[in-house]
This record gives sequence, C-alpha cells and structure tokens, in this order.
Amino acid sequence: MSNELVKIPQATAKRLPLYYRFLKNLHSSGKQKVSSAELSEAVKVDSATIRRDFSYFGALGKKGYGYNVSYLLSFFRKALDQDELTKVALIGVGNLGTALLNYSILKNNNTKIEIAFDIDQNKVGTKVGQVPVYHMDELEKKLIETDVQVAILTVPVPEAQPVTDRLVQANVKGILNFTPARLNVPSTIRVHHIDLAVELQSLVYFLKHYPSEEA
Ligand code: ATP
Repeated sequence: MSNELVKIPQATAKRLPLYYRFLKNLHSSGKQKVSSAELSEAVKVDSATIRRDFSYFGALGKKGYGYNVSYLLSFFRKALDQDELTKVALIGVGNLGTALLNYSILKNNNTKIEIAFDIDQNKVGTKVGQVPVYHMDELEKKLIETDVQVAILTVPVPEAQPVTDRLVQANVKGILNFTPARLNVPSTIRVHHIDLAVELQSLVYFLKHYPSEEA
C-alpha cells in the first residue's frame, strides 16, 4: 500500500475497492464524469460520505460538473497498488478453497493466488484453477521462495491456529481467514475475517427484525 493511503481513515480505505470497481466500469463505458449522487446510488454510500472520502484524495468535485473519472481512476489505481501484483497463497483446497481458486474475479485484479497447500495426497501435485497444490510439508520453503506474504485460510477449524502459527513463521503479513476460528497473531500481522455463516445469519436477523429499514 502506498503512503498516501496509510494517511486516509481506515473506513475510507475500505471503500476504495468499491469506488474503484464502479469507476472502472464507468470508464470502460466511455463516461468521463460522474456526480456524487450517481456514485452514491451505485455503491450505496451516502453522497456526503463520498464527498468527504474524495476530499482525502484531493479530488474536489466541481459543482454542476461532478468528478473526473480518469483522474479518480488513476488515483485509485495507485492507492490500491493496482499496477503491482500481490501474490497470494491459499491453504486448504477443500470445497471452499477450490471454489476460491476457480473464482475468476480474484485472478483479474491486483492479487493473484499463486500457490496452494493441502495435506491430502490426492490433491497434492494437481492444479486447481491453474494453481499448483503443494504439500504442507513444503509450506515454509515455498512461501519464502516465492515471496508470498498474503494467505487465504480455508482449512478445517481445528487446523486454523496451528497453520496460522506456521504462516507467521514463514513471514506472512496478512491472512484472509475464511474459517470460523478466531486467530491469535502478533500485532504486526493483519487478519481479516470472513465468516460466511455469521454473515448469512446476521443478514437473516436484520431481515426479520428490521424489515422496513431499507425501504
Ligand atoms: P472436502 O470435501 O474436500 O474435504 P471441505 O471444505 O469440506 O472439503 P475441510 O475438512 O473443511 O473440507 O478441509 C478443507 C481442506 O483443508 C481439505 O482439502 C483438507 O484436506 C485440508 N486440510 C486439512 N487439514 C489441513 C492442514 N493442516 N493443512 C492444510 N490443509 C489441510
């Protein structure tokens, strides 16, 4: 991540990929300007927040004109390091891991799952979605060799912590944790947690208890 991005608030930084994806589509459809109202409608973020976010990027929309799409895109590309490819490892090539390896959106961005690991001999030595699967015995050696510092974790829950400890030892700095396990890591390691079951439950809860909120 660039230094510029470090200075902007985390909440703003989290919205960057959302803005980026929408602006990329706008740009490829030939649109040169966009208003904060249009953006707001598309990305479902209120326009005051969008204006505040964009002011951090030095992009001040002109009244009645809107924002320059190319300017914003080039800013986001730099801020999100879209020009720089980040190599990612995936640990645990089960049902979810396999789905992620085959998920084409992950291939076309600035991140690429380069290498996968499993303990199942039937999976080791194969390729899933063009990604080679290695045995866990080779984890540290391969990660250091390929300089991979980001890992996606899709192992069974009891394996999550021991595997994480090994990832930390192998110089991994960021972990996208798809397991329900809460991971203990040193403060220098960043973990983002995606618990699909919890997210789904929470969606159902909100639908039940706040049915008219959206409307
Ligand atoms: P499957 O049907 O292939 O078993 P699953 O997602 O239901 O998929 P899980 O038991 O969640 O299976 O395991 C996910 C994957 O993690 C499996 O491919 C399994 O071989 C692998 N795995 C289990 N333990 C480890 C470990 N310690 N290190 C790496 N991979 C592991």
